[in-house]
Amino acid sequence: MDGFQGNTGVIVIAATNRPDVLDAALLRPGRFDRQILVDYPDYKGRLEILKVHARNKKLDDSVSLETIARRTPGLAGADLASLLNEAAILTARRHKGAIGNLEIADALDRVKIGMPKRPLTDSIEKCKTAYHEIGHALLQTLLPNTDPLDKVTIVPRSGGIMGFSASVPDEEVGLETRAKILDIITATLGGRACEEVVFGREEVDDGAGSDLQKVTRLARLMATQLGMTDLGLAAWESPNNEVFLGRDLMPTNDYSEDLARRIDRQIRAIAGECYTKAKHILQEHRPLVDRLVEELLERETLDGEEFRKLVAAHTAVPEKPLVGAKF
Ligand code: ZN
Repeated sequence: MDGFQGNTGVIVIAATNRPDVLDAALLRPGRFDRQILVDYPDYKGRLEILKVHARNKKLDDSVSLETIARRTPGLAGADLASLLNEAAILTARRHKGAIGNLEIADALDRVKIGMPKRPLTDSIEKCKTAYHEIGHALLQTLLPNTDPLDKVTIVPRSGGIMGFSASVPDEEVGLETRAKILDIITATLGGRACEEVVFGREEVDDGAGSDLQKVTRLARLMATQLGMTDLGLAAWESPNNEVFLGRDLMPTNDYSEDLARRIDRQIRAIAGECYTKAKHILQEHRPLVDRLVEELLERETLDGEEFRKLVAAHTAVPEKPLVGAKF
């Protein structure tokens, strides 16, 4: 690679996940001319990866790799391999002859969220967790622009997760409207909002930390990259979601302190408005919230379909297309 003579017929291939720290000399023309970003696999990619890992496993006839592929946006090849391995382990532990849809669904929760732990026994903590998760689940069901609810549970998971409320995933790419992002923010704030509505402001706890991080991230995205706020049509930050490529070390913003303050104000305004809306909807359906919590405390996990039925007995539920079919 000295550049003095052309070594025709020699192709040098290299891989890195830190292209940002490569020496400029290495990237000059004639050295590495093509750069190919290997991103997370899309639906077709996931399906092919699943086929490879399913080869040496016995799957029940009802299991469809297409369905699994559709429900796993955001998972990398290693995650998909581990998904099928976990499912195989669960199958053996349950003394079944072939991996069924139940094992796949449980394995997916393990891979995406964490290992289940013993159910909560502390009744106060369990009750608060139930209200928090019902807050998310109810808003996700009643708001017209969010993805449909897949399940809500208060079985704790490893990593300090007390419970979760998950949606049927949409393909990772796709045009998100302003209305959809706002509804996602509102549903994400639903957990904390429900705690406040039910237990009062003094009783909210530290369980909403990751919710608030997600809200801030989405609101910042709206203000600084998508031109969806009063700050107008400008992008002051570029997408740095490729953190695994080391771009988080690069300066991500080069705007003035004044603009930074205005961005912060927009983020706070979005979060504030959505929080008010979340509280309002939950207050409006207070008896339903109690009813749903009762059911969740008793059964610990409710799937999306059951949940929608319970809600529909009290109020109108907006219709949403189910992107990934049910396991
Ligand atoms: Zn939450």
